[in-house]
Amino acid sequence: MKKDYSILKKSDVPAFFASLANEMQLIGPKQLFAGDVTFDVIQSHKDIYWDYGHVVYPPKRFLLPHFEDMFRYTCDEQIKIEPTCNPQPQAIVAIRSCDVAAIRFQENFFSYPIVDPYYKERLNNTVLFNLVCNTPPKEECFCICCDSGPWLESGFDVQLTDLGDRFLYEVGSDKGEKATEPRAYMLLPATPADIEARRQIELQADSRFQTVSYLAKAINFISADEVPAKIWEDLGSTCFRCGACTNLCPVCTCFTVDDREEPDGTFTRCRSWDSCQYAGFTREASGHNPRPTFGSRVARRFYHKTSYQYIIRDGRHGCVGCGRCITACLTKLGLPDVVKRIRREMHEFLPPKEKAAEV
Ligand code: SF4
Ligand code: SF4
Repeated sequence: MKKDYSILKKSDVPAFFASLANEMQLIGPKQLFAGDVTFDVIQSHKDIYWDYGHVVYPPKRFLLPHFEDMFRYTCDEQIKIEPTCNPQPQAIVAIRSCDVAAIRFQENFFSYPIVDPYYKERLNNTVLFNLVCNTPPKEECFCICCDSGPWLESGFDVQLTDLGDRFLYEVGSDKGEKATEPRAYMLLPATPADIEARRQIELQADSRFQTVSYLAKAINFISADEVPAKIWEDLGSTCFRCGACTNLCPVCTCFTVDDREEPDGTFTRCRSWDSCQYAGFTREASGHNPRPTFGSRVARRFYHKTSYQYIIRDGRHGCVGCGRCITACLTKLGLPDVVKRIRREMHEFLPPKEKAAEV
């Protein structure tokens, strides 16, 4: 799709999003009474809190709810199935680049090999208004190492870059085009100076990051299954299996499915978030658990996130560098920490020749 840059003046932002709210529900960053910022349903465009840095809780629940009814069924003489999912149009406004990249990962995950109609329908009804990070990133952020920020080349429907008194407005998809069209009269043509201002933001981005993660070496070790069980068990021995890392990760997709009996005798099939760090996630009906130890579950998590096998299947590695698992984990099992420990600790397992090449 041809890149098309415009300008949305900040003085026109209220009218723009008030008009959009007439067509779809707005989700956006909202400041709570104690000062925390979280993504929530926006009742008035005035509630969109544009000047946030990064939210701990990702907006993934608006596409993959914590808990959702999938369908209702009866088990009378004939089984009758009634769908319950009816997603309404929504726009996620001021979503960060890393979270958009995570949604694109999830879109792939829920499309292959079997299409998940629940995720697909919600995403089809969602317009993503990405807001480029041009303030200093949080200490934990490393999106720049994961090709998922601070701005995006693709994956957004609309991308906004804050240029002071105006936003550079970039349409990235047909869905973005459709959401823009009724309000296009509020947009002005972008000038070369606007494009240059954005370019300067891109040039300055690299120097702002405090966390870097050299994933490539760890990806090689993990993909080749060369990381000894001892390293995984050492890492796993510190895990509390609280599930914070996977719950906060915008990429993680684990879920479980249950059936609930309703008071009227019908049943509802529902799904809810789960975590590969919980023993019950892989425990089979027989009681056998193919991943019985903490180490084997931590290994699984990182194998899923970084191995070539999954990179090929999912189109990218399963980390967008948002840093939330660093913030969440009390015992330093965030992705960059684990990558660093694998790089360091593998050293003692390497044959002498490779060891020399490593130094
Ligand atoms: S946040 Fe840390 S302690 Fe909690 S489950 Fe994840 S790895 Fe384990
Ligand atoms: S693994 Fe950690 S840093 Fe990477 S996307 Fe998930 S929460 Fe963010």
